[in-house]
Amino acid sequence: MLNLDRLSREFARQAAISSPSRREGAMARYLAERFSALGGVIEWDGTGAKINGEADNLIVRFAATGRDAAPLMLSVHMDTVEPCANVQPQLQNGIFTSAGETILGSDDKSGIAEIIEALEILREEKIPHGPLEVVVTVCEEIGLLGAKHFDAGRLASRRGFALDTSGVDKLILTAPAANKLHFTITGREAHAGIAPEAGISAIAIAAAAISRMTLGRIDFETTANIGTINGGIATNIIPRRVEFKGEVRSHDPLKLEMQTRQMVAAVEEAVAAAVRSIDGVLIRPEALCQVVAEYPRMAVLADSLLVQGAVAAAARLGRQLELLPGGGGSDANIFNSSGIETVILATGMTDVHTVNESVALADMAGVAELLVEIIRTA
Ligand SMILES: [Zn+2]
Repeated sequence: MLNLDRLSREFARQAAISSPSRREGAMARYLAERFSALGGVIEWDGTGAKINGEADNLIVRFAATGRDAAPLMLSVHMDTVEPCANVQPQLQNGIFTSAGETILGSDDKSGIAEIIEALEILREEKIPHGPLEVVVTVCEEIGLLGAKHFDAGRLASRRGFALDTSGVDKLILTAPAANKLHFTITGREAHAGIAPEAGISAIAIAAAAISRMTLGRIDFETTANIGTINGGIATNIIPRRVEFKGEVRSHDPLKLEMQTRQMVAAVEEAVAAAVRSIDGVLIRPEALCQVVAEYPRMAVLADSLLVQGAVAAAARLGRQLELLPGGGGSDANIFNSSGIETVILATGMTDVHTVNESVALADMAGVAELLVEIIRTA
């Protein structure tokens, strides 16, 4: 039977443990103990040392109990964004919030608590299930670092659910791939009042470059942005150097490539247009354009067994799962690219990454019940 009290205590206990990215040590120790008590076999993957963090990714295996089924992965992440020092979770009218000026950490501790409650129910009611592999990653919030260092070969599962999105009864099937762009433009410094003719403004080149770019929502599945710009020293100096950074996301790898190229070309064209002869010498400003693939796309089909299994499980509970596209990158992108078909299940969390974050106990209970039904029939 679902135990609201147990679920509530579990979530509150986790929320009170500070676990910012790279400093997940206390949380990792707590989880290892908690999952061990549930009969899980604990494995650490050595990722912490590689990413300068306190904790490794945690893998917890639960053997099959009287049911012959393919292994199933359940994934969550143990780190949270800041501010998260001394979180004081408060439960009022069935809704958890943080008491002070901190986040709550329901991203992603609601998901962890839901998995634990589901495991409690499976055990208590001796419900037969296939092999389960719970993966709790570190450093998800700072570029999916834990998942990127995770070796999917450690898992027997080739399908799974990542519990890591806001809302209720939602399943995310697709997410874009993303590139990060970092541009550095070097012009020529000169006194702005005495010898402006001797200078080439890096800021002016950047302005020309950015205005040549197509940005914002490019089409229904592609977006682009320049998010930061830094440069210049003083109002009386023609700036020599400026740096600006942006990103492109698309569900279509070809569009991702085309949009990225368009932005790089805009910079190259603006730089070429700024070449000038100064005192009889041709001065060429320079552009350094760095493109880094941030994460690959994910695209699970709605008629896949994984999705249809979850939809049917929800229907048996009298609920309807909404199948949706996602707009961001998460651990699930990485798992999918490593050959583990993974969809993202909503945990009930809301207003994440803000101090107004909250999660309703009843919504967490609903997810735990759904998990039991999914696992029972997966
Ligand atoms: Zn998250």
